[in-house]
Amino acid sequence: MREIGHFIGGKHVPGKSGRTAEVFQPMTGEVIARVALASKDELRQAVENAKAAQPAWGATNPQRRARVLMKFLELIAKETDSLAELLAREHGKTISDAKGDIQRGVEVAEFCVGIPHQMKGEYTEGAGPGIDMYSIRQPLGVVAGITPFNFPAMIPLWKLAPAIACGNAFILKPSERDPGVPMRLAELMIEAGLPAGILNVVNGDKESVDGILDDPDIKAVGFVGSSAIAEYVYARAAANGKRAQCFGGAKNHMIIMPDANMDQAVDALIGAGYGSAGERCMAVSVAVPVGKATADALMDKLIPRVESLRVGPSTDPSADFGPLVTKAHLDKVRSYVDLGIKEGAKLVVDGRNFKMQGYENGFYMGGCLFDDVKPEMRIYKEEIFGPVLSVVRAKNYDEALRLPTEHEYGNGVAIYTRDGDAARDFAARVNVGMVGINVPIPVPLAYYTFGGWKRSGFGDLNQHGPDAIRFYTKTKTVTSRWPSGTKEGAEFAIPTMQ
Ligand code: NAD
Repeated sequence: MREIGHFIGGKHVPGKSGRTAEVFQPMTGEVIARVALASKDELRQAVENAKAAQPAWGATNPQRRARVLMKFLELIAKETDSLAELLAREHGKTISDAKGDIQRGVEVAEFCVGIPHQMKGEYTEGAGPGIDMYSIRQPLGVVAGITPFNFPAMIPLWKLAPAIACGNAFILKPSERDPGVPMRLAELMIEAGLPAGILNVVNGDKESVDGILDDPDIKAVGFVGSSAIAEYVYARAAANGKRAQCFGGAKNHMIIMPDANMDQAVDALIGAGYGSAGERCMAVSVAVPVGKATADALMDKLIPRVESLRVGPSTDPSADFGPLVTKAHLDKVRSYVDLGIKEGAKLVVDGRNFKMQGYENGFYMGGCLFDDVKPEMRIYKEEIFGPVLSVVRAKNYDEALRLPTEHEYGNGVAIYTRDGDAARDFAARVNVGMVGINVPIPVPLAYYTFGGWKRSGFGDLNQHGPDAIRFYTKTKTVTSRWPSGTKEGAEFAIPTMQ
């Protein structure tokens, strides 16, 4: 049995708390590792290492910090195949999807290679008589990231790459369900030349999260996970005087207008609804056809496609999606399907009893499709996070626009149409953070920022892009005057530029 401890001060450290969690291989249902769950003392040990190492790293010039990232990117590129396999075995997604998970994280590290440019401040010569003014960005010190199970490479990279590039020391508390890839990323960083103590991985659960939230030396916390925990982390971090950006759950709608190309819309729904078994915060979980004719045409094409989805083990290159992450999560998703039937939605494709031959203990389920879902049903209001797509029929465009706008989540949304005017109006008025126009999963690229609205995101700055540099640095503004510009005598009124 593989034992996974922590990565502190540049090396592997065994867990000492006596508490562990099982790590499953979802495609077979076996336990493949045991991961240590840190105590507050173990978390504190990581913070002390990080605190001791950070000043020298923060003082290292940004080009040299960027070179460590360049080398890290080179190392990741060499072992993408083995990393993707490790990821797929612990998470359950297919290997090709696991490669995408790594790549979308790599792209943020690539963006951070430009840190010497991105951290540049501003300068005004002659802001007043003999006065120059400038601003500089400085690292915060020790910062932390708490990440979910569903993107075990991408989301840790979204946090650790900008934090480290900005000169901070970083503590990563990854999901206890798939810690293998985050641990390997930390090893690769050391191999790339990152000083020991700048990237620490502390495995754990609520105890280590609370340790992070209460630690006086941790200055900022980035969280991604479910909304209830995001809100808790945001409130407790703020109460302790920390910066926090906390991203939560989602219920992403895709509107299908009567003029949409129906084949493209169906392809988009199949990929975005069922890829990664629906375990993506940007998965489309609600399809909203506008008008009865659109809805009927959509269902005619969608039903056979959902029925013919290929579910398979993560290592099967022909599988559309693999198993869910754990048995507990599989049971939860199945129970939502049971609930939908009770609530009166029409289950037109039922994948609940799918069994994978030869992998009977794996956590598989087939694609499920509900028609006639109503906004007051719990299966509409709550995040299911599985291969279950709900169709809510809207009478007209205004009703369709209202659904994502009034939903408590506001992560992503898409509209399929050939009418530029409708698309433009939709993008302007919908109350959601990321919008796709004929693009089903509108995850912005690394040089833009990623963040949902309403209960999908707590805090002001988004992830990656320029916001990440702002989040992981503090701005200092210097006003300077040399004796030749200094007037005689004291001034008692506030100086102005009149
Ligand atoms: P989760 O909330 O269960 O766990 C996230 C992190 O919080 C993990 O590191 C976990 O160990 C920790 N945690 C769990 N329970 C805790 C508690 N009671 N107190 C303190 N910490 C706790 O989320 P998950 O199941 O790993 O991930 C799936 C969720 O993440 C979905 O809701 C999905 O929509 C969301 N997600 C959001 C985004 C986004 O950018 N908005 C991206 C990916 C995933």
